[in-house]
Amino acid sequence: MQTSEKSVDGDGPSHPRGYSVLSLLAAAAGRHSWPRAWRSRPPRGAYDAVIVGGGGHGLATAYYLARNHDMSRVAVIEKGWIGGGNTGRNTTIVRSNYLLKETATFFEFSLKLWEGLSRELNYNVMFSPRGVVNLFHSPQEREALLRRQNAMILNGIDADVLSLDQLRRLVPALDTSGGARFPVAGAVIQRRAGTARHDAVAWAYARGASNLGIDIIENCEMLAIETQAGAVSAIETTLGRIETTKIGVAASGHSGQIAAMAGFRLPIETHLLQACVTEPIKPFLDCVVSSGTLFVYVSQTAKGELVIGGRLDGCNSFSQRGDLAVLEENLSNAVTLFPRISRLRIMRQWAGAVDMSMDGSPILGPSPVPGLYLDAGWCYGGFKATPAAGWALAHVIANDEPHPIAAPFALSRFAEGRQISERAAGPRPNAH
Ligand code: FAD
Repeated sequence: MQTSEKSVDGDGPSHPRGYSVLSLLAAAAGRHSWPRAWRSRPPRGAYDAVIVGGGGHGLATAYYLARNHDMSRVAVIEKGWIGGGNTGRNTTIVRSNYLLKETATFFEFSLKLWEGLSRELNYNVMFSPRGVVNLFHSPQEREALLRRQNAMILNGIDADVLSLDQLRRLVPALDTSGGARFPVAGAVIQRRAGTARHDAVAWAYARGASNLGIDIIENCEMLAIETQAGAVSAIETTLGRIETTKIGVAASGHSGQIAAMAGFRLPIETHLLQACVTEPIKPFLDCVVSSGTLFVYVSQTAKGELVIGGRLDGCNSFSQRGDLAVLEENLSNAVTLFPRISRLRIMRQWAGAVDMSMDGSPILGPSPVPGLYLDAGWCYGGFKATPAAGWALAHVIANDEPHPIAAPFALSRFAEGRQISERAAGPRPNAH
């Protein structure tokens, strides 16, 4: 702390970055009002487009509508608060380690956007390419992962195999003793993959969109969709009626309800996916470790907490709590991988309502109702899709034509029997 300089507001010694001690104390005491990062306003009567859902996908869509397509007479309506859905509930893994051409192309496009996102939005989203490690425990799993690694390389995506010795050096805390029920035999790593700060992503896109003229309206739920001659003409919300001929749906677990408002069904079920964090400990894990056999994955936050996630709860629900039995199973699997964490306490546990599509891939593009565009079915893995999903949804809203990276994910694929199932292509190394 420098004490010789006067602060910017002249009320005492200043921090090298320009904050005075008094202003920091005032902020800590809640008496400092930070400027709002985005404008908040009641809805106008009409917009060129309305985005339903103020998670990362909806906010990114609004940002790219303004940035890429000069459309700023746009509102994002959010029934709760910005980032309060799955965007603020996920385990923040960002990767593009997919087998199939369609998914690999889409998620690699997204990863490239992640790599420049903090600079693009002038906001630190804490993207941390710390590597995502997928363990193999059996010869079959090794074969499946090596096939995936080869496919990734053919698709121009980085992927390396780790021998048991290399794995031991990278993740010393992992139980590689061979005495486990499913002994670890090696791994595949995507080094450019990693994590990002989920809330910051929502806030950054919200600020970016707001700066480009988009209206961000919280506590505003869409209740009904009006059509004229079969096409979207207006919506009814808890804050009144809004005229618009274009709606982008980025409502994750609530996509099915919104499709019902428009009079059709989506091949989507809403399930709970839960996660938890332990008390913070000294840094001991600097990559994400995932086991497809045990269906669990573990990473460590900058604060020192271990983030642990695993399988779906397996029942349809919109609650955001999660079942104790699944938590117990996820934890016991994490302890199998890392026996030394067995005495850590769990600090928080939560769940999100995720939109599970029938083939595990998203639905991104036009819907059967003209003017209604879908961004749904992200299952376990839509956080990493945030920039690309926003990019592609903005494209289809602006041009009424799917973006090339999103074209394979049309809703019509289910009627045509053209599923994009990573699962059908072989055992999946992880789901998140
Ligand atoms: P959300 O952030 O859920 O935003 C949708 C918004 O729509 C919500 O805020 C909701 O309130 C609003 N809404 C709904 N209905 C209406 C309405 N009628 N009117 C107005 N607003 C409405 N993905 C990864 O890539 N990596 C991971 O590691 C990962 N881990 C996960 C772990 C857990 C526990 C969970 C639950 C999910 C995980 N995911 C992960 C998935 C990821 O979180 C989601 O796919 C992604 O966040 C979806 O973003 P979104 O913006 O579409 O949805």
